[in-house]
Amino acid sequence: MYSYECSLHTRSEKKIPGNKVLLEAAFKKTIFLGNTYLKVNPKSKFPNPKSKIIFAAIMSKSTDELFKNVISHAKEYGFVFPSSEIYDGLSAVYDYGQNGAELKNNIKTYWWKAMVQMNDNIVGIDSAIFMHPKIWKASGHVDGFSDPMIDNKDSKKRYRADQLLEDKIAKYDSEGKTDKAEQLQHDMDEALKAEDLTRLRDLIIEHELACPVSGTRNWTEVRQFNLMFSTQMGAVADDADTIYLRPETAQGIFVNYLNVQKSGRMKIPFGIAQIGKAFRNEVIARQFIIRMREFEQMEMQFFVRPGTQKEWFDQWKETRLKWHLALGTDAAKYRYHEHTKLAHYADAAYDIEFEFPFGFKEVEGIHSRTNFDLSQHEKFSGKKLQYFDPEVDPETGKPFGNYVPYVIETSIGLDRMFLLTMINAYEEEDLSTEDKQDSRTVLRLHPCLAPVKAAIFPLTKKDGLPEKAREIMDKLKLDFNIQYEEKDAIGKRYRRQDAIGTPFCITVDHQTLEDNTVTIRHRDSMAQERVPADQLDKIIGDLVSWRNVLS
Ligand code: ATP
Repeated sequence: MYSYECSLHTRSEKKIPGNKVLLEAAFKKTIFLGNTYLKVNPKSKFPNPKSKIIFAAIMSKSTDELFKNVISHAKEYGFVFPSSEIYDGLSAVYDYGQNGAELKNNIKTYWWKAMVQMNDNIVGIDSAIFMHPKIWKASGHVDGFSDPMIDNKDSKKRYRADQLLEDKIAKYDSEGKTDKAEQLQHDMDEALKAEDLTRLRDLIIEHELACPVSGTRNWTEVRQFNLMFSTQMGAVADDADTIYLRPETAQGIFVNYLNVQKSGRMKIPFGIAQIGKAFRNEVIARQFIIRMREFEQMEMQFFVRPGTQKEWFDQWKETRLKWHLALGTDAAKYRYHEHTKLAHYADAAYDIEFEFPFGFKEVEGIHSRTNFDLSQHEKFSGKKLQYFDPEVDPETGKPFGNYVPYVIETSIGLDRMFLLTMINAYEEEDLSTEDKQDSRTVLRLHPCLAPVKAAIFPLTKKDGLPEKAREIMDKLKLDFNIQYEEKDAIGKRYRRQDAIGTPFCITVDHQTLEDNTVTIRHRDSMAQERVPADQLDKIIGDLVSWRNVLS
């Protein structure tokens, strides 16, 4: 690996003054640098790779622009649409299109296989979204699942008080005012811990936070706002019970703990996993699918013997980060964030954060939740939720006996994982040569996650080529999601498949009719090779096999 000293250039190769960076070649093609990003053209000239060279052919773009491009790409290529768009949309609700649904399913499959299939002591369930309303009383959501909100009296816009302060902390950091940032972080944490809403408002005033819309500092008091959606269950309005749309999938696991333990004869330690929708009436929803009002979670509760929670917590923290990294994502894009302010029932909590174009954001939480949830459900339901542990305690020489298990939770947002995957894969690649300007947009998705595994193109629409192409496709589609395309020149078809991240394009031409060979073109290298058609299932199968990420 070599280091290059690079200067930033705009697309028109105008040099941006004063921005020299050391770039590790070998080869990260996109590098984020505050508000700009570098893109290195692999074909640009490196006269002497060992010397420190300032090279050109670098495009610079703001990270905002990159993010906007990803959002419009997601829409244009059938990944994510705004919900109810023909009615002008519904705030913070999104629909997944034909390619988005495939990508989402593949992420779910990766998670499910890694958590359930690969662990003989973890099983998966699918509990209902509607649950007995007492569950949310027991879990603390009715009384405590709220965010501090504040309104600006001039713009009438509503904000989360803690988020306004967090933005200010980030601003202090970016301006190099680390002391101020640390002080404000500390003051905010204290105020949140003490649930001191007046202090939160004072901090907003002290740090001169203005409404981004009106620009004024004319704020209301800070109030708590419950995030649960409620509805009525029952035909007659008067008799109907208020029930809630679940704000997390975890409670469906807790209330089924005993059912699963008994019916599956599960022995501690064991886990229960679940993928499903969750609903939160977020005060302010922003950043596309990062903060939605209807979203999906992939959660696993791991039940352990009291006293062993620390070691299991450490293990799951590591295991979960490995799951992310197995997809080939640059490790520097991830970091752990330790919670200093713990929920009253937790004895440890870490977030796994990813560096999105707008900064590091939580993608997954690993929480040590003690026996809080099960104990609360024992109290509220009046049913015993204990486990009899026959194993002998070496200290007392007696069985550990009955106890309410402790729980380690891993909770990842599927939609945030989806966005992370899209952003990480998205690349606007400059393919220009000395005589020709050219570029392509490619999604370098891990082949296991790619919505379409291969596309089949007859070179022309005649001479029996479409029939031959379909014959090949019919065999492959038994194992893989395959797309058939015969419209436009081959080059255009390649570009369309690059844009949705298809790892292989297979062209059927006249030679195929003679010797049953096809041209296979690889998405990332764009290299083409001639291979026998009957080897295609092996070639595709090897690249998209889950073994590549699970073992
Ligand atoms: P945040 O602090 O960002 O609001 P959280 O700490 O409330 O998140 P958890 O309750 O731990 O989140 O939920 C677990 C995961 O669910 C999060 O790591 C995130 O990926 C996802 N998640 C939570 N809220 C939303 C949302 N409104 N939209 C999309 N995903 C979400």
